[in-house]
Amino acid sequence: MPQQPSVRVDAGWATDVGRVRDHNEDAALVTDSVFVVADGMGGHAAGEVASALAVDAVRRAADGVLLAPEGLVEAVEQANTAILRQMMNNPDQLGMATTLTGLALVWGGEGAQADSDERQPGPQWEVVNVGDSRVYRWFDGELVQVTQDHSEVGDLVRMGVITEQEARRHPARNIVTRCLGRLPADPVDSWSFAPTPGERWLACSDGLTNELVDEQVAALLGDGDDPQAIAEALVAAAVEHGGRDNVTVVVVFTAPTSD
Ligand code: MN
Repeated sequence: MPQQPSVRVDAGWATDVGRVRDHNEDAALVTDSVFVVADGMGGHAAGEVASALAVDAVRRAADGVLLAPEGLVEAVEQANTAILRQMMNNPDQLGMATTLTGLALVWGGEGAQADSDERQPGPQWEVVNVGDSRVYRWFDGELVQVTQDHSEVGDLVRMGVITEQEARRHPARNIVTRCLGRLPADPVDSWSFAPTPGERWLACSDGLTNELVDEQVAALLGDGDDPQAIAEALVAAAVEHGGRDNVTVVVVFTAPTSD
């Protein structure tokens, strides 16, 4: 049996309804090893049902077990099923959907260790995404967006039709091209990373990234060493900047190993 991975993580999270919306349709999940953000969509308060169902499905899939590689992808697929089942039983909620993005510490069969060329089973990060919420990785002052937005404006940015800055104010900025709550299910993107002490992960809803540019996010994510304080500062900055949407962030540190 695999042992508990020798990687320590430290996390914090925060959410805010913002200055415009009257309720919060985002949801988050923070456990010892699973860190997820979901941004719900749908009328009649159904968006918050969809995002809550999604994070609950992931919570159940990861409850008390160390996920295997692709385990988080499978949990996200179960979340899609949970939303479909809910709509089947509650037709007034038809059309609800949610994004979901985040990361989990899994026990990897390929086991690329950050500090070794040996390939043996070990802990690794699995990052997943469906929709236009994002995961970023920060290391030594440098911020990299890991996920690719599944959105109409994301497609336009990738095609070079509009800039990232124009995407933040584009009328179609809320139209996602993949989400949970669809049949057939939209594909789930995933990536693996060897845990590296000192790295900082950020999972966030678009309420953060439509208000703050990457340079602002990088500065706040690198400021201090308390992930909870950083999460709260990021949310406060997005609300301060306009708060046009619900904003939710999860901040995760890969701490130095201790034997
Ligand atoms: Mn949003």
